[in-house]
Amino acid sequence: MNAPARKTLEGWGRYPRVESDVLRSESRRDLIAAVTSNGNHPVLARGLGRAYGDAALLEGGVTLLMERLDRILEFDPETGWLKCEAGFSLDDLVRIFLPRGFFPPVVPGTRFVTLGGALASDVHGKNHHISGSWASHVRSVELLKSTGEIVFCDAERNSELFWATAGGQGLTGIILSMEVKLRRVESGAVDVVSTRVRDLEEFLDVSAAHQDWPYSVSWIDGFARGRSIGRGNFMAGRHAPAGSNGKAGLLSKLPRGLISGRFLESNLLLNGLSARMFNAVLYRKQIRKRSSSTISVYPFFFPLDAVDRWNRMYGKRGFFQYQFVVPPDPQNLALKQILASISESGTLPFLGVIKEFGSESHGGLSFPRPGVTVALDFANTGQNTLDLFTRLDDMVVDAGGRVYLTKDARLGLDAFRRMYPEWTEWKLVRDEADPLNMFQSELGRRLGLVGEMSD
Ligand SMILES: Cc1cc2nc3c(=O)[nH]c(=O)nc-3n(C[C@H](O)[C@H](O)[C@H](O)COP(=O)(O)OP(=O)(O)OC[C@H]3O[C@@H](n4cnc5c(N)ncnc54)[C@H](O)[C@@H]3O)c2cc1C
Repeated sequence: MNAPARKTLEGWGRYPRVESDVLRSESRRDLIAAVTSNGNHPVLARGLGRAYGDAALLEGGVTLLMERLDRILEFDPETGWLKCEAGFSLDDLVRIFLPRGFFPPVVPGTRFVTLGGALASDVHGKNHHISGSWASHVRSVELLKSTGEIVFCDAERNSELFWATAGGQGLTGIILSMEVKLRRVESGAVDVVSTRVRDLEEFLDVSAAHQDWPYSVSWIDGFARGRSIGRGNFMAGRHAPAGSNGKAGLLSKLPRGLISGRFLESNLLLNGLSARMFNAVLYRKQIRKRSSSTISVYPFFFPLDAVDRWNRMYGKRGFFQYQFVVPPDPQNLALKQILASISESGTLPFLGVIKEFGSESHGGLSFPRPGVTVALDFANTGQNTLDLFTRLDDMVVDAGGRVYLTKDARLGLDAFRRMYPEWTEWKLVRDEADPLNMFQSELGRRLGLVGEMSD
């Protein structure tokens, strides 16, 4: 086993940064040794570090990198059930299984995540309204507890621990492996229809009209004001039939690394003007009211992956993504109020998406619940950005909604508890699984999810 090395770590949003002893685990034996002989230090598993905030950060403990535990253990081509280690990435999964006619059941907006990270965040994708989130497609998990014991969790065995681990942000133990059911697809392309929407009402009408499409999402113009609030471009997609060839997407035709966030950081530091221009261009890009095309899965599901380290565009201070969901409301009062507060605040988002979630909800710390979710990227411009989020938190709480912990770096304890009332039951299960309080993170400490580690 390698010795841990002291490193500065950050999430995808680059805020906050912490010092941690980092250990690149090569085998499950390494993990067991790290947990059982860790000299009374807290530990945390880390995948590819795509959580935006502090979910994958641990100050003063041992961070266990999972990416080398990436073996495929079993695959049944008849049923699509895949068993693999938790460090296996969606990037590898798509590369290996798409040519064989299989695709992940749910994908987030980047393929550079591990399967362990996907379960620990219970990630959702453009198909939540039909397929739910990641944990809905997992039938069993092997979890390493702080005692060094490995437990199996599925519908019958340790099912409470299974559901606490789904969305549990790595605080119940280390996910070693899982069985996930892949979906059959006939090609590597997606048939897409795009519709320009003028406002929030039109977005909801168009979204309702596409409920039977497996994938849908809309880019939203965070600069729009007044009656234009909610305007953007709606997209619905379905896997294209056999023989379809999807266009690669402009960015992915360029050699990898040619456009990188680092290059953009030094040339186009994001400011209000560039953000406003970018949103105006996106809105006008959809020239006709409605258009259709067939594109590769890559630009459809993972458009931002074409720009290497795009998070660097925001400079050293980093950025936040504010993602919330509010329950369905025929008049959309809360949604309108929140979007209006943002556009009037002067602290404006560079990029935003809006999507209707389906009825499935997993409880515990899992984020998705029925309603409308909006995700907006804001440069970190200091206290004014944080103050805006605190005001938004109050509106989200009043509406019975919540923010996504995986994207968060600053939510307060009180607001968190009102957003996630199931946290108490979740914590009972977690405390039983980890009585030593060995599994910790900055997010867990900030939100009172973990106690002090005991000797
Ligand atoms: C561009 C972009 C787009 C995104 N789009 C979406 C989206 O559409 N939907 C969505 O839901 N999310 C989205 N995300 C968030 C991302 O899917 C999650 O943060 C995911 O958890 C990242 O996986 P990771 O392997 O990088 O995990 P990390 O970021 O390293 O860790 C995330 C959490 O998982 C825990 N964890 C990781 N591995 C293990 C393990 N083996 N055992 C126990 N715990 C573990 C960590 O402790 C941490 O709490 C997006 C992120 C980016 C950067």
